[in-house]
Amino acid sequence: MRIIICLFLIASCGEPVIGKVDKQIIDLGSLEYKPEARIDSRIDSRIDSRVDLKIDSFKTVKLLNTITVCQTCTKELLEAKTIGINKAMVVLYELLSYDVPVSIVFHLDGDDTYGKYETGMTGYAFTNKYGSDICLYDVEKENRSTEFNPINAVTIQDQLLVIHETMHVWFYERVNNYNIEEPFCKLTSFLLSETLDCSWFGPNFSYPDKLMYDLCGLGMDIEKLKQILRLIGNSKKISSADFSKICSSVLGKDTTSCFKNAGLF
Ligand SMILES: [Zn+2]
Repeated sequence: MRIIICLFLIASCGEPVIGKVDKQIIDLGSLEYKPEARIDSRIDSRIDSRVDLKIDSFKTVKLLNTITVCQTCTKELLEAKTIGINKAMVVLYELLSYDVPVSIVFHLDGDDTYGKYETGMTGYAFTNKYGSDICLYDVEKENRSTEFNPINAVTIQDQLLVIHETMHVWFYERVNNYNIEEPFCKLTSFLLSETLDCSWFGPNFSYPDKLMYDLCGLGMDIEKLKQILRLIGNSKKISSADFSKICSSVLGKDTTSCFKNAGLF
């Protein structure tokens, strides 16, 4: 089990405690899935473990059991953000070759179960063997780039944090090294949400972002990113050395110094 707290942040979150939550719930709807999409065996155990959440739609497997919840949103806003999350999942499906994390609950506001919002928080991903919860704090957050309303919530640009946190879930157990995955989550979310790019990373950045500044200097882009993530595949706790080798093979240049400069060797 682990909790990844993001983005440029933040405050500490307490250990989530399972409890009773009464929320508005929307399934993410039906996308056209390729048959090779991974059906995660965690779903059944997750349903069993969460019966006290009273989330009946866990029984409905849409978008591989991913749902959005919000205690305080209007129905219109909840539906709009769900459409936006759907868009994020579509671009992630393409990037990750349909191996997108499943069984995610996206929380649009803080709650008693997964943590109240505290000033300065951006969001976090909580993952255990049953699935993942991603807290976006869209409702309360003060550092949102745009207002959280139905017009903005449907856009791919509004899904930067959705993509970022979902990538943390994807990295769970594959890399399990925050200092490597954080810059990759950042770049992936920047590019897929069409908001930022490699130019965000600066030469004076400290780790973990220093790694991506150097990798961008060696030609990292969306296509290279896609190749790297596909080569990682279903690796388990891949080492810094092996991660560097994959980056080197895709970029066609030795990335050892990038990882060294980022303090990863
Ligand atoms: Zn992060």
